[in-house]
Amino acid sequence: MDESWIINHLGEDHDSPHAPVAPPLVRSNNFSFPTVAAMREAVQIEFDAPFYTRGHNPTVALLREKLAALEHAEDALVFSSGAGAMTAAVMAFLRAGDHVVCIDKPYSWTRKLLVDLLARFGVEHTFVDATDPGAYRSACRANTKLFLLESPNSLTFEVTDLAAVAAIAREKGALTICDNSHSGPLYQHPIVLGIDLTMHTASKFINGHGDVVAGVIAGRKEHVRRIMANEFMTLGAVVSPADAWLMLRSLRTLPLRMERSAGSAERIAPYLAEHPKVKEVYWPFLPQHPQVELARRQMRRCTGLLSIRVKAPDEAAVERFCDRLERFRMAVSWGGYESLVFPVCALKGPSGYYTDLPWDLVRLYIGLDDPEALLRDLDQALAAI
Ligand SMILES: *Cc1c(COP(=O)(O)O)cnc(C)c1O
Repeated sequence: MDESWIINHLGEDHDSPHAPVAPPLVRSNNFSFPTVAAMREAVQIEFDAPFYTRGHNPTVALLREKLAALEHAEDALVFSSGAGAMTAAVMAFLRAGDHVVCIDKPYSWTRKLLVDLLARFGVEHTFVDATDPGAYRSACRANTKLFLLESPNSLTFEVTDLAAVAAIAREKGALTICDNSHSGPLYQHPIVLGIDLTMHTASKFINGHGDVVAGVIAGRKEHVRRIMANEFMTLGAVVSPADAWLMLRSLRTLPLRMERSAGSAERIAPYLAEHPKVKEVYWPFLPQHPQVELARRQMRRCTGLLSIRVKAPDEAAVERFCDRLERFRMAVSWGGYESLVFPVCALKGPSGYYTDLPWDLVRLYIGLDDPEALLRDLDQALAAI
């Protein structure tokens, strides 16, 4: 099954009279039955057919089918946020006394899940250098049950050797979950590399229009079933059918949107690397990136999320650069049509999440704008430093 078949045809009605080209949005939260016998039968397959929308909804089911196929997974679940997806998946496989090995710069709320929430329930963790497979092995204990990965991660873009780390986890009897948001479901397939479960924030590339918050978990049927029958249903962070419908629409253009972002990054990242006002560029496909070989081996392409360190004498100069940008809107998040700038210095402070990052680090997201216009904008703003 090729990707465009999955996106445009899989699971869709081609044959009924007036088959709609846009799939129907079934908003109903409930489904009824003509007889007790029919209801009794339906409850047996509650998660596979319409019964109650928290568990199964036809619009959400179509999205699940397509996302699972894109990820080379047997099944997928869609949540009301990426954080909800991660929390449900992680909790499904842990109990008090277990230990988690996690990359040392995960997404901020993944870190909080380990440090604050799970620690309260007696789950321990060790953060390791994401780039060193040996570090995962040394961090393992007798009670290690889970490896929590994210490759590349989303501020400094360190790359984890997913096949090597998946092999270590298997040997140690630990499950692997990889946050695959950076590459989206098209440019990297952790499951093919041996990872058990992939997670996405669909708020980024998958929806891609800045108007939905959602998340995805994909993997083998037995794992997805386990999450569904427990944490998915009890924590209840499920997506609304209306948002699932918007994502089905967004999927139609996912390859085009990702190609545009990646193509523009291929032009802009090398340009920034040569710019006299830029100290460093973090983008794994740059020839001078220390992990470029690994990145090119396990990722099909590298999209337009990158960070730079600017050659600024002080924080005020970083602010001048960011404030001067006209085509990049200042905001967190990424993966939409809009190009964005996120200066780490804006979020340093009480939360403490970014204390281990340099103050002159600025993340850029190259959206669907004209890349030449973005280059001119970067050029004039860098001159303000
Ligand atoms: C945004 C993000 C998340 C969280 O997703 P939400 O949909 O905002 O809950 C998780 N991981 C990464 C890498 C992200 O960028």
